Amino acid sequence: MDLLYKSTRNAEKTVTASEAILKGLAEDGGLFVPVEIPKLDLSMDELKEMSYQETAYEVMKLFLTDFTEEELKHCIASAYDAKFDTTEIAPLVKIRDGVYHLELFHGATIAFKDMALSILPHLLTTAARKNQVTNDIVILTATSGDTGKAALAGFADVPGTKIIVFYPKNGVSKVQELQMVTQKGANTAVVAIHGNFDNAQTGVKQLFEDKELEKELADAGYQFSSANSINIGRLVPQVVYYVYAYAKLLQKGEIAAGEEINVTVPTGNFGNILAAYYAKQMGVPITKLICASNENKVLFDFFRTGVYDKNREFVLTSSPSMDILISSNLERLIYQIAGQSANKNLELMDALKTAGTYAITPEMKKELQDFVGGYATEADTRQAIHETYADTGYVMDTHTAVASHVCNVYRQESGDSHKMVIASTASPYKFVRSVMTAIDENYASVDELELMEDLKKVSKTEIPKAIQDILDAQILHRRECDVDQMKATVREILKVEGK
Ligand SMILES: *Cc1c(COP(=O)(O)O)cnc(C)c1O
Repeated sequence: MDLLYKSTRNAEKTVTASEAILKGLAEDGGLFVPVEIPKLDLSMDELKEMSYQETAYEVMKLFLTDFTEEELKHCIASAYDAKFDTTEIAPLVKIRDGVYHLELFHGATIAFKDMALSILPHLLTTAARKNQVTNDIVILTATSGDTGKAALAGFADVPGTKIIVFYPKNGVSKVQELQMVTQKGANTAVVAIHGNFDNAQTGVKQLFEDKELEKELADAGYQFSSANSINIGRLVPQVVYYVYAYAKLLQKGEIAAGEEINVTVPTGNFGNILAAYYAKQMGVPITKLICASNENKVLFDFFRTGVYDKNREFVLTSSPSMDILISSNLERLIYQIAGQSANKNLELMDALKTAGTYAITPEMKKELQDFVGGYATEADTRQAIHETYADTGYVMDTHTAVASHVCNVYRQESGDSHKMVIASTASPYKFVRSVMTAIDENYASVDELELMEDLKKVSKTEIPKAIQDILDAQILHRRECDVDQMKATVREILKVEGK
């Protein structure tokens, strides 16, 4: 029997996994969720001997039941290959007693988005074939920095697809911006918007819901799909590495069979931590999910009070991929803790849209006991990088540092000594300026690109290929637009007529 998917905003309709991947977002604006979370059908003893690719198959086959074994294995093999600089794909590094970093940044763009975006184009083109889609698929994406490049890299020159990425002009790091504007591929477009990430994300959501544009696109032989973390085809591949991490801890003898662990995830759009929550529900022995925010601490406040309130100042931090006030994937959790009630979820999402805030019921709040919120200030983040380097020689990026700080505070304050896996979401090379000045303020005056050599010396790691590639690459994308011009810009790029 196929596992079917429902929208978080509509109780009636179900779709297959491949349809959910193709659509990205449901027509009613909701997010697709599996009608139930499948249970792992292998033991950890079996899983612990498996490669990343084998683990990926065992996890993904349970969610994407309308893909054949051959299709799924082909997607996995095409994604997790030599684009990654280690055959482990997601290595686990012991930082101190009981604390492990799950390094998710060994792919083409050196951030964790590669874990899902290197496979999504393959899932999507397979899904299109399965559903007799003949239109070209237009990927429309808003990015806070890392998604954009990872999606561009994944989709560049994939036949039958086009990709348009919107990013906030002054809201990404220099390396992130360079990575995007130097992207090759005739089917790629990159647009800097005069606004922040939430403007970009809201704008993209509106374009998806725009019936007029949909018609214009259909007439021209196009249809939209989303590579944003709301696509179930991104969420499912992310569940894999939590299963893998647990199995590897077991294999290395770091934990006993059945021993419970905690995870800390540096969080923005709530996709990565939701994947950990799904892994828990599949049967991975995870106790607490610690949700780490930067100074945009909407989620910290939400877990504490049960009130989600985006009406606050938007702060630009040194962890820009987490500078988010509307965490889209939280809707999937809200739906679940509302007892899978599309009506209740819709009511809250409407409140979010109109008032910018909503409050969950006390019963719903009880369902959140697996989660703990925490946050790091900019000073905490710098200190975490500095101290971890001083104590261990390990250099981590700013996003991981937010999680590291929150993890340490949680362990001290709660006395909870379960082993901890920290999702390490970016290479320090990607945020080299913030990282190096946290290690030593004297680096503040050094050019960002020269800092790469300094980081190499300090961290005793090689400069990743992703960085070497941008050092002398040509700028190919210069397009900018105002927030209210996003629709016109899409029409211009795709050469479709507006009325
Ligand atoms: C996207 C991103 C995050 C946030 O992940 P979400 O799934 O959006 O919560 C954290 N760190 C880095 C480096 C990222 O690129």
